[in-house]
Amino acid sequence: MNIETIKTFQSLKTPFYYYDTALLRATLQVAAQEAEHHGFHLHYAIKANANPKILEIIQGYDIGADCVSGNEVARATECGFPANRIVYAGVGKSDEEIRLALEQEIFCFNCESLPEIEVINAIAGELGKKASVALRVNPNVDAHTHHYITTGIEENKFGFYLYDLDHAIAASRNMENINLIGLHFHIGSQITDLTVFRGLCLRVNEIQARLKEQGILLPHINFGGGLGINYDCPTCGLIPDFASYFQVFADFFEAQPGQQLHFELGRSLVGQCGSLISRVLYVKEGKHKKFVILDAGMNDLLRPALYQAFHRIENLTSVQPHEKYDIVGPICESSDCFGKDRDLPATHRGDLLAIRSCGAYGEVMASRYNLRELAGSYFSE
Ligand SMILES: *Cc1c(COP(=O)(O)O)cnc(C)c1O
Repeated sequence: MNIETIKTFQSLKTPFYYYDTALLRATLQVAAQEAEHHGFHLHYAIKANANPKILEIIQGYDIGADCVSGNEVARATECGFPANRIVYAGVGKSDEEIRLALEQEIFCFNCESLPEIEVINAIAGELGKKASVALRVNPNVDAHTHHYITTGIEENKFGFYLYDLDHAIAASRNMENINLIGLHFHIGSQITDLTVFRGLCLRVNEIQARLKEQGILLPHINFGGGLGINYDCPTCGLIPDFASYFQVFADFFEAQPGQQLHFELGRSLVGQCGSLISRVLYVKEGKHKKFVILDAGMNDLLRPALYQAFHRIENLTSVQPHEKYDIVGPICESSDCFGKDRDLPATHRGDLLAIRSCGAYGEVMASRYNLRELAGSYFSE
């Protein structure tokens, strides 16, 4: 962030989310271009950041939407995503949400259980529509990421288990108002080891080979999202390596003739463009350490408290010699802590701190716990 930007921060009410829209655009440009190079379809996972201004920018890059609630489907269409490029996932879709998505004529429901598909079938019948459905398969591939954001192993609640898949396919194909068009996989988030995606490709190849023996070919394969970002050093990885990511699928997935590949990226598209800007309220000397107490709390940014997530923290206004601090929020919970033993320039009341890499799962997870105001959002342009 340059001096001018920091100057403008001084007059703004803190805490707030700051989005570098130039970086967002550059990231989208690379992702869209690399996907297009392989003929892959991109759907932005709205749950990562549903700020309308962010969505309006993203939809301008010929990217569809991945939604996990009826309100996300509604927000996506309001912000310009074409309904026929919306996919809709989630283990617990309500009747009302299903009806809304059918009325909007979205591209595809990613379904996670037979009872759910039966309800979609019934509601589609009432509305005189046919629902396009992909089965979310739990491929039992370990994403080697944080326990809470691993979704593709058998102990998770997500998707059809492999041993159920044949039955689920047969049952779905028998339903009058269901059009089974594909398989969906999403094995976790913040995956930085690309060999995990290679493992996913190989597993999906096995599944496809089995289906082929039964004469089944589904035209759409959706590999979900999960590509990670560099939280340790945002400036080393401002734009994730989309080229290598997509290349894994081009190299290792054996697409059948005419098959279309889909991806649902969230974090990797928006993570690095956002920072949470906060002001130092107090510096408190403990017995063994010093605490920097911010005016931002876990209600503004939940990830450290929820997942013990690491975010880089920078002091934007001090250049004095470094000291070690624990950086905490004002909320009465011990988990309201953004970082322990962090090296920062000597920090004082009134300094501005930036918590980096907050564009994904930051603002969207904010709450009004303690009746605190929601943080605002500002854009670089
Ligand atoms: C959360 C989610 C995504 C996006 O995950 P990222 O790690 O942010 O890329 C994609 N698909 C589904 C089904 C999800 O639940």
